[in-house]
Amino acid sequence: MDDNKTSGQLLNEKLTYSSKNIWEKSDEKERELAFTFSERYKQFLNKAKTEREFAAEAVKLAEENGFVSLDSFDNGKLKPGMKVYRVNRNKAIALAVIGNKGMENGVNVVGAHIDSPRIDLKQNPLYEDTSMVLLKTHYYGGIKKYQWVTIPLALHGVVVKTSGEIVEVNIGEEDSDPVFTITDLLPHLAQDQMQKKMSEAITGEGLNVLFGSIPHEDDKVKDRVKLNILKLLNEKYDMTEEDFVSAELEIVPAFKASDVGLDRSFVGAYGQDDRVCSYAALDAILGITEVEKTAVCLLTDKEEIGSMGNTGAQSIFFENFLAELCFLSIDKYYDIILRACLSNSMMLSADVNSGVDPNYEGVQDKRNASFMGKGLVLQKYTGARGKVGGSEANPEFIAKLRKIFNDNHIIWQTGEIGKVDLGGGGTIAQFLANLGVEVIDCGIAVLSMHSPFEITSKIDIYTMNKAYKVFYKEI
Ligand code: MN
Ligand code: MN
Repeated sequence: MDDNKTSGQLLNEKLTYSSKNIWEKSDEKERELAFTFSERYKQFLNKAKTEREFAAEAVKLAEENGFVSLDSFDNGKLKPGMKVYRVNRNKAIALAVIGNKGMENGVNVVGAHIDSPRIDLKQNPLYEDTSMVLLKTHYYGGIKKYQWVTIPLALHGVVVKTSGEIVEVNIGEEDSDPVFTITDLLPHLAQDQMQKKMSEAITGEGLNVLFGSIPHEDDKVKDRVKLNILKLLNEKYDMTEEDFVSAELEIVPAFKASDVGLDRSFVGAYGQDDRVCSYAALDAILGITEVEKTAVCLLTDKEEIGSMGNTGAQSIFFENFLAELCFLSIDKYYDIILRACLSNSMMLSADVNSGVDPNYEGVQDKRNASFMGKGLVLQKYTGARGKVGGSEANPEFIAKLRKIFNDNHIIWQTGEIGKVDLGGGGTIAQFLANLGVEVIDCGIAVLSMHSPFEITSKIDIYTMNKAYKVFYKEI
């Protein structure tokens, strides 16, 4: 082949960098593997639409794959090859496969978030108006509110009673279930609304969910429709209106994950930011049997609202998890072992990137943006307007990653969230970097990010999963 190439062509190949479309490079076998992986991924997405559901499904898969909860670990000391996990308040989880090297050498972490933008119920959600019952909400994360009206919605979450009993709620997923919705104004009466800015046409306080309309038969009471709804809730969940105060109820799209495109090359689903990365990371750690450095998969909550709180990446959960692994691995625990572990650790902050969308030209610098189907995205820096508020990876670390990915034929590209000064964003990377961990943002491109129906490329998902496996093994 090379004989037919001109010297300029050869030099060009040797010296220039360009990203590659994996569909062009992949053979039939690889495509089949990508499609098979996506089938499992879609099924997982349908079962895990909230952080709690993700954590619960992750525990199931972990136990099927030989992982043991640290709560029930009474095996003396941790030995290489042992698999353990710890769940944080049912909403975050860390898993580890113990490596041959000691904890002071650091761990290899793939970290992602398992919360997604959605609409939460307020503490006092139920009210009756115009003989209909609606639910007051407060949206969670960065949503474009107009995308969430007139679509079928499901209600997921928990109600915790004063007895401590946790009642699980999941309505809108079965074919026989009702769904809910947020109504919109008919075009005939929307002249004023249509003149408004998109950010104002649908208001946050106006995101009220339609919940019922049949009145209780006793006309002596006020708000009879509300009473009837409370009666139904009481029959099904043994709850009262006050129980909403200690509930975590989330409104999410009711539809299931689908293939998108005549060639079925995309996955369309709610919550792929960041379940696409968290599922790929979870799957990668589940398959590990032996590693040199301890492998950790960290799945956190609350990223979409700044990683705050004791289940978010800013909490001490990760540090405590590593401290526990150190404590259980050595004869005598010293804090300095944990400190050494943190500064010698390396991490892929697995989160999605804004893929170039032909419908929205002009928002990206195409020389640096990520594309659908071009593989894993290495995003050196996040932040906005002068990289402010972001995290920036060190080139020494990126060079190591380039080496292991190139050596293992993992196709990667670069990425950034839009043109300079146009926007930006952050991930959990900075919070782990603050602990001394070497971190880079590393996920795949997504279209329609934060919408009820986000789009990913099947070949990218598969490539990302392969990359995470390589990272655990070779970094
Ligand atoms: Mn994300
Ligand atoms: Mn996000």
